[in-house]
Amino acid sequence: MTTRTTRTTRTTQAPLATLLVRLTDDVTEAEVGALLRALDLPTTPHANWRRHLRALLTARLPARPDADRLAALASLPGVERLRALAPGEHLVTALAGDGTVRLPNGAVIGGTSPVVIAGPCTVESEAQVCRLAAAVRDAGAGALRGGVFKPRTSPYNFAGMGLQGLDLLTLAGQQTGLPVVTEALDPSHLEPVTAQAQVIQIGSRNMHNFPFLLQAGSHPSGRPILLKRGFGATVDEFLLAAEHVLLGRFLAGRDGGLILCERGIRTFEQSTRFTLDVGAIPVLKERCHLPVIADPSHTAGARAYVAPMALAAIAAGADGLLVEVHDNPDTALCDGEQAVSPVEFARLMEQVVAVAEIVRS
Ligand code: PEP
Ligand code: MN
Repeated sequence: MTTRTTRTTRTTQAPLATLLVRLTDDVTEAEVGALLRALDLPTTPHANWRRHLRALLTARLPARPDADRLAALASLPGVERLRALAPGEHLVTALAGDGTVRLPNGAVIGGTSPVVIAGPCTVESEAQVCRLAAAVRDAGAGALRGGVFKPRTSPYNFAGMGLQGLDLLTLAGQQTGLPVVTEALDPSHLEPVTAQAQVIQIGSRNMHNFPFLLQAGSHPSGRPILLKRGFGATVDEFLLAAEHVLLGRFLAGRDGGLILCERGIRTFEQSTRFTLDVGAIPVLKERCHLPVIADPSHTAGARAYVAPMALAAIAAGADGLLVEVHDNPDTALCDGEQAVSPVEFARLMEQVVAVAEIVRS
C-alpha cells in the first residue's frame, strides 16, 4: 500500500529541470548562499540541491531558467559557468559533439569501424605483456589492455602487479605504438593510471561507486574513461552511472570522453560466466551518443564462446570489443580459461572486420 502511494506520487510529479553550476575554486559560503537564494532554494542542505566535490553544485528547478535568468545567474560572484538541462534531460543524452573517442594512435572508438582493445587479463611480466602487445597489434588491435590493479572476488587471489605492472604495460604500449587501457580501482590509482595510460577503465564492480565515477570523470588529465556495466545493473542504472562521469567532465570543463562497455549481466543461467545482454547494445546506442563496446571474454568465461559472443556484439552494432588474449593460458595468473590465443585472436579480427562490413554496409 505504501509502495503504491509512493509510486503514484512519483509518476504524477512533473520532472524537474537540472542546473549544473561550476563554482570558482575560491568560492565563499556566502556566495553559495546568495546563489541558492537567487534560485529560490533553501540554503541549508536539501533534496533540491547538492554540492559535489569542492566546486560543483547541482540544483533541481521546476523549469529550465530562460536565457536572461541564466545570464544573471552566471554573473553572480563565485559562479564560473552554468549549464541547464531541460526536465528529463541528462548530460548522457544531451552530449555535444559526436561522442567519439580518438586515441593517440588515430583509432577512433565510435567511428566508422570497430576498435578492438586486446591483451592479457593481467600484466604478469615484461616478456609476457610485450609479446602479447606485439601479437595483438599485428592482428589489428587498436589498443592494449592489461590489468595491474585487479578487483578479485577472493582477497587471496593475485591482485595484479600494481605500479610495477603499470610500468611494464607502458613499456609494451611504447614498443608497439598501442595506447594502453587499464583499470583504476580506487581514487589513489587515478594519478598513476592517468599519468601512464591513455584510457582509464572503471570495472563492473565499481560502476556503483558514484563518488569515484565523479572523481575519475573530473580528473584534470581529461583521460577518456571506459565504464563497464555493473553485472547487476539495468541499462537505466548504467546510463545514470555514465551521468556521474559526465558530471565530472562538466566540472573539469570538458564533454564526452566516455566509452560504455557491455560485459554481461548475472542471470539464472550458469552455462556462461555472465549473460551477454546483446539487446543492450542497440538500446544504449539509441539512448545516448557514447560509443558502446562489448567484452565477450568476461561474459563468456570460456574461450570457446568468446568469438561467437564478440561477433554477436559487432552484429548488434558495437563500436568495438575488449578481448583477453594469452599465449600460455594454463599458467596465466588470472582468467586463463577465457583467454583466446594470439592465433585465435587474429582469426577473430578477420571475422570482426567481415561482420562489421556487413552490418555497416
Ligand atoms: C577486466 O576487464 O579486467 C575486468 C575485471 O572486468 P569486469 O570489471 O567487467 O569484471
Ligand atoms: Mn579478466
